[in-house]
Amino acid sequence: MESMEKTEKIYYEDAYLQEFTATVLSADADGRVVLDRTAFFPESGGQTCDRGVLVTEGGELLTVKDVQITGEVILHLVETPCPLHAGDRVTGRIDWAHRFDNMQNHSGEHIFSGLVHSLHGYNNVGFHLSETEMTMDFDGVLTEADLKEIEGKANEAVWKNVPVLQRFPGAEELETISYRSKKEVEGALRLIVIPDIDICACCAPHVRHTGEIGVIKLLSAQNYKGGTRVSVACGSRALAVFAEEHAFVTETALHFSTSADQLSGRIAGLEEEIFRLKGTVLSLNDRLIEERLAHLPGDREHICILEADLSAEQMRHTVNALMEKKGGYCGVFAGSEETGYRFVIGIREGDARIAIENLRPHGQVKGGGNAQMVQGSVTGVSEKTIREVWDSFTSI
Ligand SMILES: [Zn+2]
Repeated sequence: MESMEKTEKIYYEDAYLQEFTATVLSADADGRVVLDRTAFFPESGGQTCDRGVLVTEGGELLTVKDVQITGEVILHLVETPCPLHAGDRVTGRIDWAHRFDNMQNHSGEHIFSGLVHSLHGYNNVGFHLSETEMTMDFDGVLTEADLKEIEGKANEAVWKNVPVLQRFPGAEELETISYRSKKEVEGALRLIVIPDIDICACCAPHVRHTGEIGVIKLLSAQNYKGGTRVSVACGSRALAVFAEEHAFVTETALHFSTSADQLSGRIAGLEEEIFRLKGTVLSLNDRLIEERLAHLPGDREHICILEADLSAEQMRHTVNALMEKKGGYCGVFAGSEETGYRFVIGIREGDARIAIENLRPHGQVKGGGNAQMVQGSVTGVSEKTIREVWDSFTSI
């Protein structure tokens, strides 16, 4: 019976055990396998479960898709059909790269959270370690300077290469120990002790010495529920982040023909140049519009002007100027056939909304306004069609 089953957690004895043998206690048609002992760490305490395979006596590899803990039992979910039966012997193999990555990050989290607690008295009230990111939620506000100090001290703790110890204290002894707890513990209390840095109740596998964490890098911090959520990467993950960002910065600097340390200055210079050029375009457009307004066809009352690039203010200004001179539909379109057009249409006496209705059969029109002036956008329409719509307005 399942209620009598118990799985020995051999990842407690040796977090570095990558292969083990075990006896199947039960296995069902849905691929739920219970072993008498396992090195597979189940999903718990905010951390993902181990991945890997179970190998049958016949040499068949069964991928372990999920590992869950319920009471004293650890459940391995394997592919179906599952050929295992109670009493079979299996060999379990852990995906070591995945496990060690979790160990580096989880041990790093203890150092970081322990320092936040000892320096500021805040608790980690939300820990999340996924395949791609690790976040911690602290119940107090940490400034940029606080975080920089914590990151520095955390890495000093890595360089000191102090041991990471596990202890199972009795109830009496426990009362004398001050430790952090994240309510992730079932059964006998297990403490992870990093001398002079942190003591915390925890059920997860850890590295033997802090040096194995490699590096603890703060990636981001944000205000969260009155406290601070931080994102941190340790070990190989931190290296991957650095490699990716370093490649990006190097490539971008090369693209702008400068060095990485000159890149931000180069970008600021380009922003200034864009700002200046925008001003030049605006003033050239003003002159263009003046020119257009000075040479309007005398025989037409319905006027339509199309330009590649006008600001919203220039479009409104031009329509107002046109309406002073002409009594018909005065339209200004800015854009191109490929990107679509923004438009402003006005009429002194009449209903500008009719112009929108006349455009609607020819493209995707968005917009609205009042009888005197409408604005919006139209896509999927050619310059020729817009001019034809204007020609179709009966003369006043
Ligand atoms: Zn922990």
